[in-house]
Amino acid sequence: MATNLQIAARKIASVNPATGEVLRELECAGEADVRDAVTRARVAQAAWAEIGVRRRIAVLREFQHRLHEKKSEIAEAITREAGKPVAEALTTEVLVVLDAARFLIENAYRLLRDEPVPHGNLATRLKRGRLLGEPYGVVGIISPWNYPFSIPATETLAALVAGNAVVLKPSELTPLVALELASLLHQSAVPHDVFQVVPGDGATGAALIHSQIDKLVFTGSVATGKRIAAAAAERLLPVVLELGGKDPMLVLDDADVDVASSAAVWGAFVNAGQTCLSVERCYVHRSLYEAFLKSCVEKTERLCVGHGLDGETDVGPMIHERQLQIVEAHVQDAVARGARVLAGGQRLRELGENFYVPTVLADVTHEMRIMREETFGPVLPVMAFENDDEAVRLANDSEYGLAASVWTRNRARGERLARRFQAGAVMVNDVVSCFGISEAPHGGMKASGLGRTHGRFGLEEMVRVKYVDSDLMPGMKKIWWYGYGEKFARQMAGFLDMQFAPGLRPRLRGALRAAGVIRRKPL
Ligand code: NAD
Repeated sequence: MATNLQIAARKIASVNPATGEVLRELECAGEADVRDAVTRARVAQAAWAEIGVRRRIAVLREFQHRLHEKKSEIAEAITREAGKPVAEALTTEVLVVLDAARFLIENAYRLLRDEPVPHGNLATRLKRGRLLGEPYGVVGIISPWNYPFSIPATETLAALVAGNAVVLKPSELTPLVALELASLLHQSAVPHDVFQVVPGDGATGAALIHSQIDKLVFTGSVATGKRIAAAAAERLLPVVLELGGKDPMLVLDDADVDVASSAAVWGAFVNAGQTCLSVERCYVHRSLYEAFLKSCVEKTERLCVGHGLDGETDVGPMIHERQLQIVEAHVQDAVARGARVLAGGQRLRELGENFYVPTVLADVTHEMRIMREETFGPVLPVMAFENDDEAVRLANDSEYGLAASVWTRNRARGERLARRFQAGAVMVNDVVSCFGISEAPHGGMKASGLGRTHGRFGLEEMVRVKYVDSDLMPGMKKIWWYGYGEKFARQMAGFLDMQFAPGLRPRLRGALRAAGVIRRKPL
């Protein structure tokens, strides 16, 4: 009890990262609050599942309509709490969610309906099988601050349309955007207990894992993801883990330098580099290396760094001091080991505490932290390679495996190379945007996580598969039941030959031996 009181007394502050202004303070949900929220969600979920997928799709349509109406208001709320330019909040958050709703409105009924399972095994032909996708019950979602709207909203919509209730623990840095999501969902007729937000920090997240949720979808760092996987294993709680990345970008010798350098600059600096799918490592064929670097530097120097609410801004602030210190440490380590800083390389204190100049580094190596650890800041480290094999080897030389991109004028060559990447997604001639393709599954391999969100596979994560088998001859005993006797073994050997022996003759002989099985009278 004492612990609950202590947790309930803790507070989190939502701070505008551009100005340092405290937007609002909120009390952390304590263990008891989380437990109560999950209990209420479980009760409410039964009726939500009962109304059926068509009515839930209608609710999603209403949500989509309301979100569209409030698009600018929501985008500005995101900018105030997470710092990114409003244009980015519209494209990488609001648009992504509107389109995720569109995907589910168009496809959820088809993807969630019962599916017949034809039987190939001759012995079971007198049965009919069916797959049911049943909601888990209460899905817990723990989300990060970098896409405070699109990450929890896309996961929530999939969970809800499948008939689950959701309890969301947003990042302690961006709780207000989560409350905006709750308000939109509730106005769209999602019952209050079917979608609840429990604001708080890591301890609130831990309380959610230890509550009676039926599945957890976690998005965040590898370190937290591992702790969560260990806690979930204690009670075999199914989890989806969307973790960090160190995504490589490969620029092949036939790439368009102008297009690829624009992509690298946007892909590395979008959301001030705080994107799980951002370009964290860039490898360029030696023949294009200098031209590519020159083009990246020119474009980087033209970027306008500033407050996200200012329409001129390309790159906003970083989220907080801790994240800036990681970026500084990675850049310092790279420079100490021989990297060249071609642009940026320091903070922009005249704008505020959290601004860092978009940075281009050349001549980096895999001995540097900048090429091995997730930097999560506005840094584009570039390295030259000699041939495709070396480029693929470098790309795969990472503990992460979220996404990758390859740049070439020859699409077939790019698609061939795509098969060789250890990554959950590979883009040929684009970066990052796969997150916004609602049909595409999102998720990684290696340390980047387990399971998928988005698209068909993301929806399938929200249902438990149940197999129902129905026998067409309820009055008939099965021939494989007791009362074997020695004849049955011979008959069964014949039955196996009839189906699997090589050649027609042995199959016919098998059929003759098996024939008596039909007259068999099991106990
Ligand atoms: P984080 O791991 O620090 O926090 C994520 C969430 O987990 C927060 O809500 C936090 O309060 C909660 N949390 C912390 N400790 C917990 C605990 N012990 N038990 C339960 N919950 C706990 O990550 P972050 O700094 O918010 O986000 C940045 C990271 O997220 C980066 O590594 C980034 O790559 C990753 N990310 C991955 C994806 C993806 O889809 N793969 C998307 C966005 C961000």
